[in-house]
Amino acid sequence: PPLHSQRHQFVIDFVKRNKPQKVVDLGCCECTLLKKLKFHRGFIELLVGVDVNGGKIKKKMYGLAPISADFLQPSYDQLRIELYQGSVTQKDVRLRGFDLVTSIELIEHLTLADVERFSEVVFGYMTPVAVIVSTPNSEFNNVLPGLTGFRNSDHKFEWTRAEFQSWALKVCLDYGYEVEFTGVGPAPPGQQEMVGFCSQIGVFHRLGGFYNNLMSFYLLLYQLYSVTYPSLR
Ligand code: SAM
Repeated sequence: PPLHSQRHQFVIDFVKRNKPQKVVDLGCCECTLLKKLKFHRGFIELLVGVDVNGGKIKKKMYGLAPISADFLQPSYDQLRIELYQGSVTQKDVRLRGFDLVTSIELIEHLTLADVERFSEVVFGYMTPVAVIVSTPNSEFNNVLPGLTGFRNSDHKFEWTRAEFQSWALKVCLDYGYEVEFTGVGPAPPGQQEMVGFCSQIGVFHRLGGFYNNLMSFYLLLYQLYSVTYPSLR
């Protein structure tokens, strides 16, 4: 399947395993992921999409409207969908207290100053239970045929694995999260170790409880250390 479907499937698999009730998709664009999540609900009660570009949201949002088969679903009454035009750099009280925030191929469209604001808004203010962030892995660009420069002209940056990981680990230390790194779009045979995934993904979980915090703090220090000094791994 194409890469964007693989990224969405990653989110859907996470949702099936973790059963979040309130989900917000940041940079929802034409609501493609939201439409897929709508059919994997059952436990989702509130599905929200946010994008700075109102035109993109409106273009296909009618696809989110109930279809006749929806009325037959026992969970029909339970699902509410809301779409907001707004920027991920701004605090919005309606977005606090979610179980899952997804940010799929969004951060590379922000300036680095706005990525800082994004971190503060998402992890420091919205404080969701879990966050999934995906972004291009620039190390993979070497195996993409004919690519010069960034993958998209609107990208403000594309990070290596080490750059993404050091951003993510700093976010964890600043706001009390832990993170696992993975991705979608595997490299050609034999090159996985060297270039990684096409899209890199960080899955963040909010820490809770003193003992957990302490253990995770040590784990984080270790991760930070091995990203900063890869030769010592
Ligand atoms: N998440 C979509 C998906 O998985 O198919 C694709 C994302 S698209 C590559 C990036 C989106 O981020 C665009 O729709 C753009 O309008 C939106 N965007 C850019 N800057 C934003 C901001 N500051 N706040 C919210 N959305 C933003």
